[in-house]
Amino acid sequence: MDPLPNDGKSKNLGVLRRLVALIRPHKGRFAIAVVTLFAASGLSLIYPMAAKQAVDVGMNEPTSGKLDALVVVLLGIFVVHAVLVWIRHYSMSWLGERVVADLRGIVVDRVLVLPMAWFHERRTGEIVGRLASDVTTVENIVGSELSLALRNAVQLVGGLALLIWVDWKLTAMMMAVVPPLLLITMWFGREIRKMSKQVQDELAGISGTIQESIGAIQTVQAFVRERREASRYRDGVERVFQQTLRMVKWRASFFSAAMAAGYLAIAAMIWLGGRALIAGDITSGELTAFFLYTFMVAGSLGDLAGLWGSLQRAAGATERLFAIIDTLPDIRDPDAPVALPAGGGAIAFRDVTYSYESRPDVRVLDHVDFEVAPGQVVALVGPSGAGKSTILSLLFRFHDVTGGEVQLEGVDVRRVRLGELRRAMALVAQEPVLFSGTLRDNIAYGKDGATDAEIERAARDANAHDFIASFPDGYATVIGERGVKLSGGQKQRIAIARALLADPRVLVLDEATSNLDAESESLVQQALARLMKGRTTIVVAHRLSTVRDADRILVMDRGQIVEAGRHAELMAAAGVYKRLVEHQVISDEAGPLEREA
Ligand code: ADP
Repeated sequence: MDPLPNDGKSKNLGVLRRLVALIRPHKGRFAIAVVTLFAASGLSLIYPMAAKQAVDVGMNEPTSGKLDALVVVLLGIFVVHAVLVWIRHYSMSWLGERVVADLRGIVVDRVLVLPMAWFHERRTGEIVGRLASDVTTVENIVGSELSLALRNAVQLVGGLALLIWVDWKLTAMMMAVVPPLLLITMWFGREIRKMSKQVQDELAGISGTIQESIGAIQTVQAFVRERREASRYRDGVERVFQQTLRMVKWRASFFSAAMAAGYLAIAAMIWLGGRALIAGDITSGELTAFFLYTFMVAGSLGDLAGLWGSLQRAAGATERLFAIIDTLPDIRDPDAPVALPAGGGAIAFRDVTYSYESRPDVRVLDHVDFEVAPGQVVALVGPSGAGKSTILSLLFRFHDVTGGEVQLEGVDVRRVRLGELRRAMALVAQEPVLFSGTLRDNIAYGKDGATDAEIERAARDANAHDFIASFPDGYATVIGERGVKLSGGQKQRIAIARALLADPRVLVLDEATSNLDAESESLVQQALARLMKGRTTIVVAHRLSTVRDADRILVMDRGQIVEAGRHAELMAAAGVYKRLVEHQVISDEAGPLEREA
């Protein structure tokens, strides 16, 4: 279900409609808020009438009896009013907070299923910043601005009706200033909105910058780039400041223009009203009420104009948020998925061609065709940039092929549900990613609801149990962001335990290039051997030992498989592979193939 469709109509209306859609699930609360809002605003319309009574009574009655009664009634109204205001305020704020919580959930749900290409085009900081600041903007609209706008609208309409009732001629004259005021409001609003969008974009950009610097703080400090990074950020902040100032100028002009128009109307009222009183057309009480209503109406109009401005600003933020929500991932479950057949993990690349979306002219894979039988170990080797990692990505459907077909168990991976496909495989990355949390949680990442016994079993098979048990907290040991407290070899073994627990048919391995000490190395190799047993394995190989044991080696260069066979066969063929091995650079950066080219 898509709760927030977008038909690309008028932006303000669109945004409002989306907000309404967000409020819809909380209809009851909204109804309470609106009813109390109308009741409270309606009540506030009574006060000028009371003032009219008081003045007329004061001018005409000899005793204070009627006045006393009036005040008692007024006191009662105050109490009711106060209670209504409390309920209104609470319900409106509740709605604002609720909608924000819902919205955060919706956005994150969408963001996390988006395809890799989407993330490659954006920076993490930008996405995270957007979540924080844009969502807060929406909170302001729903939690307070919407309520203010409705309140002012009630006072505007009610006040106007009462003005007409008190003296329609005076009212008609007053109304003459409204149309020009509206025009000014709309014009200013449009400009402010444009500027606000620029400011928000710039802000998202600079949060991306600083996030990047913090994420790579070691590199920043190692190259003594702190000042450079800081000044890059400051420059951004300064640009935001200047742009905001420009916007503030417009808003200030706008407010003062609106105020001037309002007070002009009031001055006219005083003049015209005074003349009507002198001529005996209205009573003193009526004139008092008329003034008070005029203030009320002018005030509401001014506030509404201001709110219009805020809505314009908010529309920018909201639009971008909804743009994320609207992004329909192009890599998603097929409409009519087929069940993944049982099997031992047969893989086939059939004449696969691939280009990254950002560089459609470059063929990263060029008619790649190979098969892996269940249980086989296939090693991908070749110089950096040959397309080895891309093959792994296509298998996981992080990207979809440009031409040809990738198959698992003889079925095109695009015809299977994403979850089913990916659960059939496990990825052990070159730099294993551990999440902040306990070691237990990190291993259990491979399988929902894994028991402690299963986790320990996986850890034992991965040669991780002993070092985990040596920590005082054992499996409950908390590791920091990216597992800073573990050594490279330990992290790899945790990642292997995770994959063991997931128990996939197919193992996708990006072998670590970094060298471990001999002992860690052999522990990791042992663990890997257990993991690979009985599974189909595709490995981007960097170690001679790995390729020696592989059932088949695919030698890649510039997106093509240039040689294929077992180690001994390829050595005997004395081709590219033999040269790679002799240079001891099976899959090194700037391999010999590139150097020769
Ligand atoms: P290998 O793993 O063999 O080093 P890759 O599969 O990572 O090679 O990369 C193959 C080619 O695709 C390289 O030329 C690389 O620059 C390009 N490439 C990789 N990822 C992207 C991406 N996200 N967008 C555009 N080009 C990419």
